[in-house]
Amino acid sequence: MGSLTQYTKACKIKAQMQVKVLSPELVSKIAAGEVVERPASVVKELVENSLDAGATQIDVEAHGGGIELIRVSDNGVGIPASEVELAFHRYATSKISDLADLEGISSLGFRGEALPSIAAVAEVEISTTAFSEAVGSYLHLRKGDVVRRESRARARGTTITVRHLFRYFPVRLKFLKAVNTESSHIANILTQYALTFPEVKFSMVIDGHLSLQTAGDGDLRGVVNEIYGSALAQAMLEIEEEHSSTKINGLISPPSLARSNRNHLSFFINRRWVRSPLLAQATEKAYHGLLMEGRHPIAVINISLPVKEVDVNIHPAKAQVKFCREQAIFADVRETVKNALARTAIARPKAMPFSSISWQGEPPRMIMDSEPTFVSAPLPALGLPVLRVLGQLANTYIVAEGPDGLYLIDQHAAHERILYDRILTQWSRKEVEIQGLLQPINMEFSPREEESLKSNKESLSQFGFTIEPFGNRSYLIRVVPALVAKTNITEALRMLLDKLVSKESSSPWEEKVAQSLACHSAIRAGQQLSNEEIRELLNQMEQTQQARTCPHGRPTMIHLSLRELEKEFGRLG
Ligand code: ADP
Ligand code: MG
Repeated sequence: MGSLTQYTKACKIKAQMQVKVLSPELVSKIAAGEVVERPASVVKELVENSLDAGATQIDVEAHGGGIELIRVSDNGVGIPASEVELAFHRYATSKISDLADLEGISSLGFRGEALPSIAAVAEVEISTTAFSEAVGSYLHLRKGDVVRRESRARARGTTITVRHLFRYFPVRLKFLKAVNTESSHIANILTQYALTFPEVKFSMVIDGHLSLQTAGDGDLRGVVNEIYGSALAQAMLEIEEEHSSTKINGLISPPSLARSNRNHLSFFINRRWVRSPLLAQATEKAYHGLLMEGRHPIAVINISLPVKEVDVNIHPAKAQVKFCREQAIFADVRETVKNALARTAIARPKAMPFSSISWQGEPPRMIMDSEPTFVSAPLPALGLPVLRVLGQLANTYIVAEGPDGLYLIDQHAAHERILYDRILTQWSRKEVEIQGLLQPINMEFSPREEESLKSNKESLSQFGFTIEPFGNRSYLIRVVPALVAKTNITEALRMLLDKLVSKESSSPWEEKVAQSLACHSAIRAGQQLSNEEIRELLNQMEQTQQARTCPHGRPTMIHLSLRELEKEFGRLG
């Protein structure tokens, strides 16, 4: 029966209570509590009002974490003298007048709650001159009541000073954090608006120190420079994409410049700053696989979408919004960021050399003096370990795995090296493989080529060419080195003759011949190779002494050791 007793008791208590309308003062305090959560909320509301008033310059000042004083000055349209008092009435707004307006809201404010709410929890002074009026007005409010009113001169615009925040709200005051924390919230709010409105000149003075100043020239990168520093400002990647119903633009950090928290993600919907876990998630998704665990990108992203697709009226401080098509917006943001990151991934080696990738090898060595010594001379161990083929990249690079990490091999450079070594070896052994042509090729040479041909006739025949004069700078090619038989022979020969007379290289002629023929005969970049062909190429490379550089001394491969990979992936230290 205990529960029944309790029930009767509860009814009695309820009967004693009376439903009554709260006093206006209490209502406004409750409402104020929602709008003005902390000093930074006051800054937010006042700055939004300045922006709505079309200001191009907004100066913010805060003392004692904003509890002692907050002052926001602007050069906006101002408030006509006859309306100043009204602006402090609850639900007084110049920005909307009917439901249609609310559904198509484009101003930052619209609830008409900010000024009365602030006035309910602090002492407020306002000095304003409307664009249409010669003299301005001044109003001083205490506990929401006007205690002084007069005409005052002021340049066009509005200055609102808020003092002793929450003085009559001891509970709220008790919940505020340290002064420094409140100051940093204020700084963060202003930072967000400076990022949203690069065309507005902002300044922020906290406890007498100028802590932010923007140029107001419309350059977002310039604002990022003021906030995050020049290194980041320069490295930020631009995003700009139009989707079916959204337009997304802004700046995002390259993966290399991540931060350890999510505080550097700024989102704006139709240039209204919003806190959005959804958008943060969409952005971070785009970085998936590019950032170490616990690292977060820096981003400034504005999403423009039809005002009907977003509900901004779900939060008293308008800090949150609701999207009609949440999934679509999520996908649009993720795609836009992802695309920008993909574009830089390709450009990356040019813009920023991979410092930790090193190709191992030696500068080109003269492998021949007057006598070919390379066959018997001991060679440094520059060969290759056994490699396992993983695939071909861009029809140009072979991707392979070795006992110590990853190998990226330039197929042309590698093949060039193989052929070059083979030509010189054959030549030194006087075992040049030749091939007679069933159909001799008739070639006409330029005077310069003919000169080259005449002075190198000896060497050319040693390398396997049989060339007969056919009158008037015409020649018949009857036998060629086997190596070039399958290629364009005339082209190979022209290249060789050119190379032999060129003054560019002082290499011995044997090397010149070998280089020229190797280069001409080697597989090209962009040529698709079968797995067998790749396997064969790697086999030959493994038997080549100087496999790591091409005959011109450029690397044939990039080796990323497991250790370097670990370093790149942040698995070390
Ligand atoms: P809301 O911004 O939702 O309209 P507020 O209480 O913030 O409501 O402001 C009430 C009205 O006061 C605004 O609609 C606007 O007409 C006027 N107002 C406030 N601040 C400014 C300002 N800095 N410059 C010009 N007008 C202002
Ligand atoms: Mg407002």
